[in-house]
Amino acid sequence: MGKAVGSEPLGRLYTGKKPRRRREWRGLKDTMYDYFRWLGYWKTLIGFTLSINNIKGFLRYRWMLNYLAMPDYMDRHTEGMRGVQLRMAHQGLGLIVTDICEMLKKIFRADPEVGNDKAFNSKIVLFDENMMSTLMGGFPNLIWLSVEVPAVYTCSMLNQTGVTYYVEKTQEYGVPSDVCPMPAAELGVTLADDFPLIGKCAVQCNTTCDGSLMGNGMEARSFKIPTFQLAVPIRHRQESVQEYAAKEVLNAIHFIEEQTGETFDWNAFFDSMKRFNAETREFLEWMDLSKTDYPQMMGVTLALYRYGVYQAAGGRNQAFLDMDRKLTKLAMKGWQEKQMAAKEYRHRCMTWGVQAAYYTALPIWLMNCWGIVPIADMLTTVSTEMVNTEDKDQALLDLAYLYENMIMRNRSNGGYETGVEALFSYCEQLRIDMVIMYVHMGCKAMAGYHGLFEEEARKRGIHWIWVTHNLMCPQDGSRRDMRMEINRYMRTVLREEPLDPSLEDFDDSENW
Ligand code: SF4
Repeated sequence: MGKAVGSEPLGRLYTGKKPRRRREWRGLKDTMYDYFRWLGYWKTLIGFTLSINNIKGFLRYRWMLNYLAMPDYMDRHTEGMRGVQLRMAHQGLGLIVTDICEMLKKIFRADPEVGNDKAFNSKIVLFDENMMSTLMGGFPNLIWLSVEVPAVYTCSMLNQTGVTYYVEKTQEYGVPSDVCPMPAAELGVTLADDFPLIGKCAVQCNTTCDGSLMGNGMEARSFKIPTFQLAVPIRHRQESVQEYAAKEVLNAIHFIEEQTGETFDWNAFFDSMKRFNAETREFLEWMDLSKTDYPQMMGVTLALYRYGVYQAAGGRNQAFLDMDRKLTKLAMKGWQEKQMAAKEYRHRCMTWGVQAAYYTALPIWLMNCWGIVPIADMLTTVSTEMVNTEDKDQALLDLAYLYENMIMRNRSNGGYETGVEALFSYCEQLRIDMVIMYVHMGCKAMAGYHGLFEEEARKRGIHWIWVTHNLMCPQDGSRRDMRMEINRYMRTVLREEPLDPSLEDFDDSENW
């Protein structure tokens, strides 16, 4: 129990109930830093409830209850951290927390059942949860929002059973239980009449699976606002589809112009893309550091922060670029001082496939329990290319490329090159010796690659661990079950002993 990484058995803090035995002791300086950040999250939550709209929204929507677990969520996502790692997690993820609160405030202000600000509502363009906000950089007078992100995705991450009620609603309606829990939960929210009905118009992307398309269809019917389906090609590596994809993005822009009366502002868009490119460059710097023996910006901090940057902020918010630069400074400091995130690094891993929303903290456990360093994950690598900021035609092609490579589609669809080859190329660049492959039992997107993955991993001498889950339904594959699959491999195949034996098996089924 002290300031050194790994100095306290972390498994002993779990009680089998929601609260932990006590807060973690990380040495005086880091404990104080962590404690004040934790108080800060409570301040954000309390500050949020000082608005009458937010209180009304809180009482109106069942899913809002999950937000009370936010301070615990931050504890889970900083477990065992010290020094630079702790600061990067609190600062990066802290910005995401503030951003989501801002999003909720806007939603409740516009919501006819809460704030009912009609003028404000008429400026809102709704995007579905898989659709990057990037093109909204050309509409500085309009407001980009997504209702699925705060109602479904975030809830499932904050609280492991956060959307169980909605999945059950869908099953009661007659939809089979083997449908992916994400569209199932979204449909459940629609059936329970729990989506705020806001916005002037909506844009949805043609996501990669039938389940998601079903969810989008039902939502479009219940939102009752004009909806555009962005149909960018799935086979996004082919040159022949790029021109069509760019035209489709232009169609989405024209749709928003027609519905809102606004004109796409190219200068504002190019400014936004300059910021977006600068953010991508910071990310590439972090990846360069990750090629060395002292990676800094990595694991779940990198993953959750990057989703916020390329999905939600999309170059439109200077606060994210400022944060990127702060994180780079911290990462450089950690690298120069050779700071480590675990007391021993035994393996360097990539996590691939669709991760469990209810166990985003698994990479932290990997590091604390087994010394497996989670260098990067599949979704972090979604956006690595620059967007042209001078030539309109090229900018549209670049934007189309981004949308073709959106979350859910850039790796799980698009063929062998994107799903299999890309992974092993990252393994080579980042000196990876282990892949944690998530098997999302409700998603068939990557099922066809099973044999290819194993064959390629064997050829390259990469350890391959399959970890089964059901995205938003911990009842079908609990956090403990997921850890067991890793434990079994580590003990029986590698014959290793855990760094922290108290973390090898513990009960967190009742935790948030
Ligand atoms: S996780 Fe798979 S099944 Fe679920 S929405 Fe995404 S692509 Fe579809």
